[in-house]
Amino acid sequence: MGDRMSLKKSQIKSLGRILPQDCLLLTPPEKLIYGTDAGRRFAMPWAVVLPKTVQQVRMVMHWALQERVPVIPRARGTNVVSACVPHTGGIVLSCLRLNRIVSISNRDFTACVQPGVITYELQEAARVRGLFYPPDPASVRVCSIGGNIATNAGGMRAVKYGVTRDYVLGLEVVLPGGELLMTGARVHKNVVGLDLTSLMVGSEGCLGVVVGAWIKLLPLPQYAATMLACFENEEHALESVDNIFGAGLLPAALEFLPREVLECLSGYADMPWPHNAGAALVIQCDGLEGSVKQEMAALRQSLANPVYSDEAEHKEQERIWELRRLINPASFRLGTGKASDDVSVPRGSLLQAIRGIRRIAGDNSLQVLVFGHVGDGNLHVNFMYDDSLQGIELHIRSAREELMDLVLGLGGSISGEHGVGLSKKPFSGRQPGALALEYMRGIKRVFDPENILNPGKL
Ligand SMILES: Cc1cc2nc3c(=O)[nH]c(=O)nc-3n(C[C@H](O)[C@H](O)[C@H](O)COP(=O)(O)OP(=O)(O)OC[C@H]3O[C@@H](n4cnc5c(N)ncnc54)[C@H](O)[C@@H]3O)c2cc1C
Repeated sequence: MGDRMSLKKSQIKSLGRILPQDCLLLTPPEKLIYGTDAGRRFAMPWAVVLPKTVQQVRMVMHWALQERVPVIPRARGTNVVSACVPHTGGIVLSCLRLNRIVSISNRDFTACVQPGVITYELQEAARVRGLFYPPDPASVRVCSIGGNIATNAGGMRAVKYGVTRDYVLGLEVVLPGGELLMTGARVHKNVVGLDLTSLMVGSEGCLGVVVGAWIKLLPLPQYAATMLACFENEEHALESVDNIFGAGLLPAALEFLPREVLECLSGYADMPWPHNAGAALVIQCDGLEGSVKQEMAALRQSLANPVYSDEAEHKEQERIWELRRLINPASFRLGTGKASDDVSVPRGSLLQAIRGIRRIAGDNSLQVLVFGHVGDGNLHVNFMYDDSLQGIELHIRSAREELMDLVLGLGGSISGEHGVGLSKKPFSGRQPGALALEYMRGIKRVFDPENILNPGKL
Protein backbone atom coordinates (compact mmCIF):
# COMPACT_ATOMS: atom_id res chain seq x y z
CA MET A 1 0.00 0.00 0.00
CA GLY A 2 3.00 2.29 0.51
CA ASP A 3 3.92 2.87 -3.18
CA ARG A 4 0.53 4.29 -4.24
CA MET A 5 0.31 8.09 -4.51
CA SER A 6 -3.46 8.60 -4.29
CA LEU A 7 -6.84 6.98 -3.94
CA LYS A 8 -8.28 5.15 -6.94
CA LYS A 9 -11.24 6.82 -8.65
CA SER A 10 -13.52 4.03 -7.45
CA GLN A 11 -12.33 4.62 -3.86
CA ILE A 12 -13.03 8.35 -4.06
CA LYS A 13 -16.51 7.49 -5.31
CA SER A 14 -17.22 4.99 -2.55
CA LEU A 15 -15.86 7.35 0.13
CA GLY A 16 -18.10 10.08 -1.29
CA ARG A 17 -21.10 7.80 -0.78
CA ILE A 18 -20.24 7.39 2.92
CA LEU A 19 -19.58 11.03 3.77
CA PRO A 20 -21.31 14.29 2.95
CA GLN A 21 -19.30 16.51 0.57
CA ASP A 22 -18.27 18.93 3.32
CA CYS A 23 -16.62 16.09 5.23
CA LEU A 24 -14.18 15.13 2.48
CA LEU A 25 -11.18 17.12 1.22
CA LEU A 26 -9.55 16.03 -2.03
CA THR A 27 -7.72 18.98 -3.59
CA PRO A 28 -4.04 19.67 -2.76
CA PRO A 29 -4.64 23.17 -1.29
CA GLU A 30 -7.33 21.79 1.03
CA LYS A 31 -5.22 18.80 2.08
CA LEU A 32 -1.89 20.62 2.46
CA ILE A 33 -2.10 21.55 6.14
CA TYR A 34 -3.08 17.97 7.08
CA GLY A 35 0.24 16.72 5.71
CA THR A 36 2.25 18.15 8.56
CA ASP A 37 2.25 18.79 12.31
CA ALA A 38 4.49 20.49 14.86
CA GLY A 39 7.15 17.84 14.08
CA ARG A 40 7.63 19.76 10.79
CA ARG A 41 7.82 16.82 8.35
CA PHE A 42 5.45 16.65 5.42
CA ALA A 43 3.68 14.10 3.24
CA MET A 44 0.56 14.89 1.22
CA PRO A 45 -2.47 12.82 2.33
CA TRP A 46 -4.46 11.02 -0.35
CA ALA A 47 -7.62 12.53 1.14
CA VAL A 48 -8.78 14.12 4.38
CA VAL A 49 -11.99 13.05 6.10
CA LEU A 50 -13.68 15.19 8.75
CA PRO A 51 -16.49 13.07 10.20
CA LYS A 52 -19.15 14.78 12.30
CA THR A 53 -20.53 11.67 13.96
CA VAL A 54 -19.25 8.47 15.51
CA GLN A 55 -21.27 6.57 12.91
CA GLN A 56 -19.34 8.31 10.12
CA VAL A 57 -16.03 7.37 11.78
CA ARG A 58 -17.23 3.77 11.90
CA MET A 59 -18.19 3.80 8.23
CA VAL A 60 -14.84 5.29 7.22
CA MET A 61 -12.97 2.66 9.23
CA HIS A 62 -15.08 -0.09 7.68
CA TRP A 63 -14.35 1.28 4.21
CA ALA A 64 -10.62 1.67 4.97
CA LEU A 65 -10.24 -1.96 6.02
CA GLN A 66 -12.12 -3.19 2.98
CA GLU A 67 -9.97 -1.06 0.69
CA ARG A 68 -6.72 -1.58 2.69
CA VAL A 69 -6.22 2.18 2.84
CA PRO A 70 -4.05 3.54 5.69
CA VAL A 71 -5.83 5.86 8.13
CA ILE A 72 -3.92 8.48 10.10
CA PRO A 73 -5.99 9.86 13.00
CA ARG A 74 -5.35 13.51 13.68
CA ALA A 75 -6.49 16.15 16.15
CA ARG A 76 -4.80 19.57 16.45
CA GLY A 77 -1.43 18.52 15.00
CA THR A 78 0.58 19.94 17.92
CA ASN A 79 2.58 16.76 18.52
CA VAL A 80 6.27 17.42 17.92
CA VAL A 81 7.28 13.93 16.72
CA SER A 82 5.47 13.84 13.35
CA ALA A 83 2.97 11.34 14.75
CA CYS A 84 0.23 12.32 12.31
CA VAL A 85 2.22 12.79 9.10
CA PRO A 86 0.88 10.35 6.45
CA HIS A 87 4.34 9.27 5.30
CA THR A 88 3.13 5.89 4.00
CA GLY A 89 0.25 7.53 2.14
CA GLY A 90 -3.37 7.11 3.16
CA ILE A 91 -6.20 9.27 4.41
CA VAL A 92 -6.02 11.64 7.36
CA LEU A 93 -9.00 11.31 9.71
CA SER A 94 -9.52 14.55 11.59
CA CYS A 95 -11.38 14.17 14.90
CA LEU A 96 -11.91 17.90 15.39
CA ARG A 97 -15.60 17.95 14.49
CA LEU A 98 -16.31 15.55 17.32
CA ASN A 99 -15.87 18.39 19.78
CA ARG A 100 -18.63 18.30 22.38
CA ILE A 101 -18.34 18.22 26.14
CA VAL A 102 -21.26 15.84 26.55
CA SER A 103 -21.63 16.11 30.31
CA ILE A 104 -19.88 17.09 33.51
CA SER A 105 -21.07 15.69 36.80
CA ASN A 106 -20.35 17.52 40.07
CA ARG A 107 -21.58 14.54 42.03
CA ASP A 108 -19.60 11.85 40.20
CA PHE A 109 -16.52 13.99 39.52
CA THR A 110 -16.51 12.88 35.89
CA ALA A 111 -16.79 14.40 32.44
CA CYS A 112 -17.84 12.73 29.21
CA VAL A 113 -16.10 14.32 26.24
CA GLN A 114 -15.54 13.88 22.55
CA PRO A 115 -11.91 13.80 21.33
CA GLY A 116 -11.87 17.16 19.50
CA VAL A 117 -12.51 19.21 22.68
CA ILE A 118 -9.63 21.63 23.30
CA THR A 119 -7.98 20.71 26.61
CA TYR A 120 -8.26 24.25 27.97
CA GLU A 121 -12.00 24.27 27.24
CA LEU A 122 -12.44 21.17 29.37
CA GLN A 123 -10.33 22.72 32.14
CA GLU A 124 -12.47 25.87 32.05
CA ALA A 125 -15.78 24.00 31.88
CA ALA A 126 -14.67 22.03 34.94
CA ARG A 127 -13.34 25.11 36.74
CA VAL A 128 -16.60 27.07 36.56
CA ARG A 129 -18.28 24.10 38.26
CA GLY A 130 -15.65 24.03 41.03
CA LEU A 131 -13.94 20.99 39.48
CA PHE A 132 -10.39 20.43 38.28
CA TYR A 133 -8.89 18.65 35.25
CA PRO A 134 -5.17 18.67 36.18
CA PRO A 135 -3.19 17.57 33.07
CA ASP A 136 -1.71 20.77 31.63
CA PRO A 137 0.59 20.36 28.63
CA ALA A 138 2.16 23.70 27.72
CA SER A 139 0.08 23.47 24.51
CA VAL A 140 -3.14 23.31 26.59
CA ARG A 141 -4.89 26.14 24.71
CA VAL A 142 -4.36 24.55 21.30
CA CYS A 143 -4.24 20.78 21.77
CA SER A 144 -7.18 18.43 22.16
CA ILE A 145 -8.25 15.79 24.66
CA GLY A 146 -8.16 13.13 21.92
CA GLY A 147 -4.55 14.04 21.06
CA ASN A 148 -3.65 14.13 24.77
CA ILE A 149 -5.12 10.66 25.24
CA ALA A 150 -3.33 9.27 22.19
CA THR A 151 0.01 10.69 23.40
CA ASN A 152 -0.57 10.34 27.16
CA ALA A 153 0.34 14.02 27.46
CA GLY A 154 1.94 15.33 30.61
CA GLY A 155 2.76 18.80 31.82
CA MET A 156 4.15 20.84 34.66
CA ARG A 157 1.63 19.58 37.21
CA ALA A 158 2.56 15.93 36.57
CA VAL A 159 4.81 15.84 39.63
CA LYS A 160 1.79 16.11 41.93
CA TYR A 161 -1.18 15.16 39.76
CA GLY A 162 0.18 12.68 37.21
CA VAL A 163 -0.44 12.59 33.46
CA THR A 164 -3.42 12.15 31.12
CA ARG A 165 -3.56 8.37 31.69
CA ASP A 166 -4.37 8.97 35.37
CA TYR A 167 -7.59 10.79 34.38
CA VAL A 168 -9.01 8.48 31.70
CA LEU A 169 -11.65 6.18 33.18
CA GLY A 170 -13.00 4.70 29.99
CA LEU A 171 -12.97 5.10 26.23
CA GLU A 172 -15.06 4.58 23.13
CA VAL A 173 -12.78 3.48 20.35
CA VAL A 174 -13.51 2.71 16.70
CA LEU A 175 -11.37 -0.17 15.48
CA PRO A 176 -10.17 -0.89 11.94
CA GLY A 177 -13.27 -2.45 10.34
CA GLY A 178 -15.62 -0.09 12.18
CA GLU A 179 -16.41 -1.97 15.40
CA LEU A 180 -17.00 0.21 18.46
CA LEU A 181 -15.00 -0.91 21.49
CA MET A 182 -15.95 0.34 24.98
CA THR A 183 -13.21 0.16 27.59
CA GLY A 184 -13.15 0.88 31.33
CA ALA A 185 -16.12 2.20 33.25
CA ARG A 186 -17.60 5.51 34.40
CA VAL A 187 -16.22 5.11 37.90
CA HIS A 188 -13.02 6.15 39.65
CA LYS A 189 -12.20 2.58 40.62
CA ASN A 190 -12.52 -0.41 38.34
CA VAL A 191 -10.38 -3.53 38.29
CA VAL A 192 -12.38 -5.83 36.07
CA GLY A 193 -10.35 -7.52 33.36
CA LEU A 194 -7.25 -6.34 31.55
CA ASP A 195 -6.80 -2.57 31.43
CA LEU A 196 -7.58 -1.81 27.77
CA THR A 197 -8.08 1.87 28.61
CA SER A 198 -4.46 2.25 29.68
CA LEU A 199 -3.36 0.32 26.61
CA MET A 200 -5.16 2.78 24.34
CA VAL A 201 -3.75 5.82 26.15
CA GLY A 202 -0.42 6.69 24.55
CA SER A 203 -0.95 4.38 21.55
CA GLU A 204 -0.47 7.30 19.11
CA GLY A 205 -3.43 6.42 16.91
CA CYS A 206 -2.01 2.97 16.09
CA LEU A 207 -4.67 0.79 17.76
CA GLY A 208 -7.98 2.59 17.29
CA VAL A 209 -9.69 5.96 16.85
CA VAL A 210 -10.84 7.44 20.15
CA VAL A 211 -14.33 8.87 19.69
CA GLY A 212 -15.36 9.39 23.32
CA ALA A 213 -13.79 9.46 26.79
CA TRP A 214 -14.87 9.31 30.41
CA ILE A 215 -12.59 11.63 32.33
CA LYS A 216 -11.93 11.79 36.06
CA LEU A 217 -12.09 15.22 37.73
CA LEU A 218 -10.90 16.46 41.12
CA PRO A 219 -12.06 19.21 43.47
CA LEU A 220 -10.67 22.57 42.32
CA PRO A 221 -7.75 23.74 44.50
CA GLN A 222 -8.83 26.97 46.17
CA TYR A 223 -5.54 28.74 46.20
CA ALA A 224 -2.06 28.60 44.61
CA ALA A 225 1.25 30.38 45.04
CA THR A 226 4.46 30.31 43.00
CA MET A 227 8.07 30.88 44.03
CA LEU A 228 11.06 31.70 41.83
CA ALA A 229 14.26 30.77 43.66
CA CYS A 230 17.74 31.37 42.21
CA PHE A 231 21.03 29.82 43.29
CA GLU A 232 24.67 30.40 42.55
CA ASN A 233 24.98 26.95 40.99
CA GLU A 234 22.91 23.97 39.97
CA GLU A 235 24.23 21.80 42.82
CA HIS A 236 22.44 24.11 45.26
CA ALA A 237 19.29 24.09 43.15
CA LEU A 238 19.20 20.29 43.00
CA GLU A 239 20.08 19.99 46.68
CA SER A 240 17.03 22.18 47.32
CA VAL A 241 14.88 19.77 45.29
CA ASP A 242 16.06 16.91 47.53
CA ASN A 243 15.34 19.04 50.62
CA ILE A 244 11.85 19.86 49.36
CA PHE A 245 10.87 16.21 48.96
CA GLY A 246 12.82 15.31 52.11
CA ALA A 247 10.64 17.77 54.05
CA GLY A 248 7.54 15.87 52.89
CA LEU A 249 6.44 18.57 50.45
CA LEU A 250 4.84 17.72 47.10
CA PRO A 251 4.65 20.87 44.95
CA ALA A 252 2.12 21.09 42.10
CA ALA A 253 4.97 22.08 39.75
CA LEU A 254 8.74 22.06 40.12
CA GLU A 255 10.74 23.40 37.17
CA PHE A 256 14.51 23.63 36.87
CA LEU A 257 16.39 26.22 34.79
CA PRO A 258 20.18 25.80 34.66
CA ARG A 259 22.83 28.41 33.89
CA GLU A 260 22.59 28.37 30.05
CA VAL A 261 18.85 28.98 30.23
CA LEU A 262 19.21 31.91 32.65
CA GLU A 263 21.93 33.43 30.42
CA CYS A 264 19.84 32.96 27.30
CA LEU A 265 16.79 34.58 28.97
CA SER A 266 18.89 37.47 30.33
CA GLY A 267 20.10 38.24 26.80
CA TYR A 268 16.53 38.23 25.52
CA ALA A 269 14.66 40.43 28.01
CA ASP A 270 15.06 42.09 31.41
CA MET A 271 15.24 39.38 34.02
CA PRO A 272 14.85 39.80 37.77
CA TRP A 273 17.74 37.64 39.01
CA PRO A 274 21.22 38.91 39.97
CA HIS A 275 24.33 38.29 37.82
CA ASN A 276 25.61 35.56 40.09
CA ALA A 277 22.50 33.42 39.59
CA GLY A 278 23.63 30.12 38.05
CA ALA A 279 20.40 28.08 38.30
CA ALA A 280 16.75 28.57 39.24
CA LEU A 281 13.72 26.67 40.41
CA VAL A 282 10.12 27.65 39.77
CA ILE A 283 7.87 26.01 42.35
CA GLN A 284 4.11 26.08 42.68
CA CYS A 285 1.99 24.88 45.61
CA ASP A 286 -1.80 24.59 45.56
CA GLY A 287 -4.60 23.60 47.93
CA LEU A 288 -6.38 25.39 50.76
CA GLU A 289 -5.05 28.89 51.44
CA GLY A 290 -3.79 28.10 54.94
CA SER A 291 -1.99 24.93 53.87
CA VAL A 292 -0.41 26.62 50.83
CA LYS A 293 0.94 29.40 53.06
CA GLN A 294 2.36 26.76 55.39
CA GLU A 295 3.91 24.89 52.45
CA MET A 296 5.47 28.08 51.10
CA ALA A 297 7.05 28.73 54.50
CA ALA A 298 8.44 25.17 54.55
CA LEU A 299 9.71 25.66 50.97
CA ARG A 300 11.68 28.73 52.02
CA GLN A 301 13.31 26.64 54.74
CA SER A 302 14.25 23.96 52.19
CA LEU A 303 16.22 26.19 49.83
CA ALA A 304 19.99 25.65 49.92
CA ASN A 305 21.74 29.07 49.83
CA PRO A 306 19.37 30.98 47.55
CA VAL A 307 20.78 34.21 46.06
CA TYR A 308 17.36 35.55 45.02
CA SER A 309 13.72 34.66 45.48
CA ASP A 310 10.35 36.06 44.52
CA GLU A 311 6.85 34.87 45.41
CA ALA A 312 3.45 35.53 43.93
CA GLU A 313 -0.12 34.36 44.37
CA HIS A 314 -3.40 34.61 42.45
CA LYS A 315 -3.00 36.18 38.99
CA GLU A 316 0.38 37.65 40.00
CA GLN A 317 1.89 34.17 39.55
CA GLU A 318 1.75 34.75 35.81
CA ARG A 319 4.72 37.11 35.96
CA ILE A 320 6.89 34.21 37.13
CA TRP A 321 5.44 31.63 34.74
CA GLU A 322 5.89 34.07 31.87
CA LEU A 323 9.68 33.81 32.38
CA ARG A 324 9.43 30.05 31.92
CA ARG A 325 7.34 30.50 28.75
CA LEU A 326 9.97 32.83 27.26
CA ILE A 327 12.51 29.99 27.02
CA ASN A 328 11.20 28.89 23.62
CA PRO A 329 11.38 32.29 21.83
CA ALA A 330 14.65 33.16 23.60
CA SER A 331 16.26 29.86 22.53
CA PHE A 332 16.51 31.05 18.92
CA ARG A 333 19.17 33.55 20.00
CA LEU A 334 21.48 30.52 20.01
CA GLY A 335 20.69 29.20 16.56
CA THR A 336 18.15 29.19 13.76
CA GLY A 337 17.62 25.44 14.08
CA LYS A 338 16.53 23.38 17.05
CA ALA A 339 16.45 19.62 17.62
CA SER A 340 14.32 18.89 20.67
CA ASP A 341 14.07 15.77 22.77
CA ASP A 342 12.17 15.15 25.99
CA VAL A 343 14.07 12.48 27.84
CA SER A 344 13.52 11.41 31.41
CA VAL A 345 15.98 9.99 33.93
CA PRO A 346 15.73 8.75 37.50
CA ARG A 347 15.60 11.88 39.65
CA GLY A 348 18.81 11.00 41.45
CA SER A 349 20.71 11.04 38.13
CA LEU A 350 19.65 14.53 37.00
CA LEU A 351 22.99 16.25 37.56
CA GLN A 352 24.87 13.43 35.85
CA ALA A 353 22.45 13.61 32.92
CA ILE A 354 22.75 17.39 32.57
CA ARG A 355 26.58 17.24 32.62
CA GLY A 356 26.56 14.40 30.09
CA ILE A 357 24.23 16.35 27.80
CA ARG A 358 26.56 19.38 27.90
CA ARG A 359 29.50 17.16 26.99
CA ILE A 360 27.58 15.64 24.07
CA ALA A 361 26.67 19.10 22.76
CA GLY A 362 30.31 20.25 23.01
CA ASP A 363 31.62 17.09 21.28
CA ASN A 364 29.24 17.71 18.39
CA SER A 365 29.86 21.49 18.11
CA LEU A 366 26.29 22.29 19.13
CA GLN A 367 24.85 24.60 21.76
CA VAL A 368 22.34 23.10 24.16
CA LEU A 369 19.54 24.34 26.37
CA VAL A 370 18.43 21.72 28.84
CA PHE A 371 15.72 22.39 31.39
CA GLY A 372 12.59 20.78 32.62
CA HIS A 373 10.19 19.17 34.99
CA VAL A 374 12.78 18.28 37.59
CA GLY A 375 10.18 16.85 39.96
CA ASP A 376 9.71 13.88 37.63
CA GLY A 377 13.18 13.76 36.10
CA ASN A 378 11.84 14.90 32.71
CA LEU A 379 14.34 17.05 30.81
CA HIS A 380 13.75 19.03 27.63
CA VAL A 381 16.97 18.89 25.62
CA ASN A 382 17.25 21.45 22.82
CA PHE A 383 20.31 21.21 20.59
CA MET A 384 20.57 24.61 18.90
CA TYR A 385 22.40 25.08 15.59
CA ASP A 386 22.81 27.22 12.51
CA ASP A 387 20.59 25.44 9.99
CA SER A 388 22.49 26.87 7.02
CA LEU A 389 25.64 24.91 7.98
CA GLN A 390 26.44 22.07 5.59
CA GLY A 391 26.43 18.62 7.17
CA ILE A 392 24.81 19.85 10.38
CA GLU A 393 22.30 16.96 10.23
CA LEU A 394 25.17 14.53 10.89
CA HIS A 395 26.16 16.40 14.06
CA ILE A 396 22.56 16.41 15.24
CA ARG A 397 22.04 12.75 14.45
CA SER A 398 25.22 11.85 16.32
CA ALA A 399 24.31 14.07 19.30
CA ARG A 400 20.84 12.53 19.50
CA GLU A 401 22.30 9.00 19.31
CA GLU A 402 24.68 9.82 22.16
CA LEU A 403 21.86 11.43 24.13
CA MET A 404 19.75 8.28 23.89
CA ASP A 405 22.76 6.15 24.93
CA LEU A 406 23.34 8.40 27.93
CA VAL A 407 19.71 8.34 29.02
CA LEU A 408 19.30 4.59 28.61
CA GLY A 409 22.61 4.05 30.41
CA LEU A 410 21.18 5.98 33.37
CA GLY A 411 18.08 3.79 33.37
CA GLY A 412 15.91 6.54 31.84
CA SER A 413 13.45 6.85 28.97
CA ILE A 414 14.01 8.34 25.50
CA SER A 415 10.65 10.12 25.77
CA GLY A 416 8.98 11.38 28.92
CA GLU A 417 6.15 13.29 27.22
CA HIS A 418 6.15 13.65 23.47
CA GLY A 419 6.01 10.03 22.32
CA VAL A 420 7.66 8.25 19.42
CA GLY A 421 5.96 9.22 16.14
CA LEU A 422 8.47 9.28 13.28
CA SER A 423 11.02 11.41 15.07
CA LYS A 424 11.95 8.94 17.84
CA LYS A 425 11.39 5.84 15.73
CA PRO A 426 15.09 5.31 14.92
CA PHE A 427 15.74 4.98 18.66
CA SER A 428 12.54 3.40 19.98
CA GLY A 429 13.68 -0.20 19.44
CA ARG A 430 16.48 0.34 21.95
CA GLN A 431 14.38 0.92 25.03
CA PRO A 432 11.98 -2.00 25.47
CA GLY A 433 13.61 -5.43 25.39
CA ALA A 434 13.19 -7.76 22.41
CA LEU A 435 10.44 -9.72 24.15
CA ALA A 436 8.51 -6.57 25.12
CA LEU A 437 8.74 -5.37 21.50
CA GLU A 438 7.43 -8.71 20.27
CA TYR A 439 4.44 -8.44 22.64
CA MET A 440 3.79 -4.88 21.42
CA ARG A 441 3.82 -6.10 17.80
CA GLY A 442 1.43 -8.89 18.79
CA ILE A 443 -0.96 -6.37 20.40
CA LYS A 444 -0.86 -4.23 17.25
CA ARG A 445 -1.75 -7.32 15.18
CA VAL A 446 -4.74 -8.08 17.43
CA PHE A 447 -6.22 -4.60 17.05
CA ASP A 448 -5.10 -3.88 13.50
CA PRO A 449 -4.24 -7.11 11.67
CA GLU A 450 -3.92 -5.40 8.28
CA ASN A 451 -1.76 -2.57 9.67
CA ILE A 452 -3.93 0.23 8.30
CA LEU A 453 -3.90 2.50 11.39
CA ASN A 454 -1.09 5.05 11.45
CA PRO A 455 1.33 2.51 9.94
CA GLY A 456 5.06 2.87 10.41
CA LYS A 457 4.81 4.85 13.67
CA LEU A 458 5.65 3.96 17.29
C1 LIG B 1 4.30 24.63 22.12
C2 LIG B 1 4.04 23.20 22.47
C3 LIG B 1 4.08 22.81 23.79
C4 LIG B 1 3.87 21.47 24.12
N1 LIG B 1 3.90 21.10 25.43
C5 LIG B 1 3.66 19.82 25.78
C6 LIG B 1 3.70 19.42 27.16
O1 LIG B 1 3.93 20.22 28.06
N2 LIG B 1 3.46 18.12 27.44
C7 LIG B 1 3.18 17.21 26.47
O2 LIG B 1 2.94 16.04 26.78
N3 LIG B 1 3.15 17.55 25.16
C8 LIG B 1 3.37 18.82 24.80
N4 LIG B 1 3.35 19.18 23.47
C9 LIG B 1 3.06 18.17 22.44
C10 LIG B 1 1.55 18.07 22.03
O3 LIG B 1 0.85 19.24 22.33
C11 LIG B 1 0.90 16.87 22.67
O4 LIG B 1 1.50 15.69 22.17
C12 LIG B 1 -0.62 16.79 22.46
O5 LIG B 1 -1.14 15.76 23.27
C13 LIG B 1 -1.04 16.55 21.01
O6 LIG B 1 -2.41 16.86 20.92
P1 LIG B 1 -3.10 17.21 19.53
O7 LIG B 1 -4.54 17.45 19.78
O8 LIG B 1 -2.38 18.30 18.84
O9 LIG B 1 -2.90 15.84 18.74
P2 LIG B 1 -2.20 15.56 17.32
O10 LIG B 1 -0.86 16.17 17.29
O11 LIG B 1 -3.13 15.91 16.22
O12 LIG B 1 -2.07 13.97 17.36
C14 LIG B 1 -1.17 13.36 18.24
C15 LIG B 1 -1.26 11.84 18.10
O13 LIG B 1 -2.52 11.41 18.50
C16 LIG B 1 -3.17 10.66 17.48
N5 LIG B 1 -4.59 10.99 17.60
C17 LIG B 1 -5.14 12.22 17.57
N6 LIG B 1 -6.47 12.13 17.79
C18 LIG B 1 -6.74 10.82 17.95
C19 LIG B 1 -7.94 10.08 18.20
N7 LIG B 1 -9.14 10.68 18.35
N8 LIG B 1 -7.85 8.73 18.31
C20 LIG B 1 -6.67 8.09 18.19
N9 LIG B 1 -5.51 8.74 17.94
C21 LIG B 1 -5.56 10.09 17.83
C22 LIG B 1 -2.49 11.07 16.21
O14 LIG B 1 -2.52 10.04 15.23
C23 LIG B 1 -1.08 11.31 16.69
O15 LIG B 1 -0.42 10.07 16.76
C24 LIG B 1 3.59 20.51 23.10
C25 LIG B 1 3.55 20.91 21.76
C26 LIG B 1 3.77 22.23 21.44
C27 LIG B 1 3.73 22.64 19.99
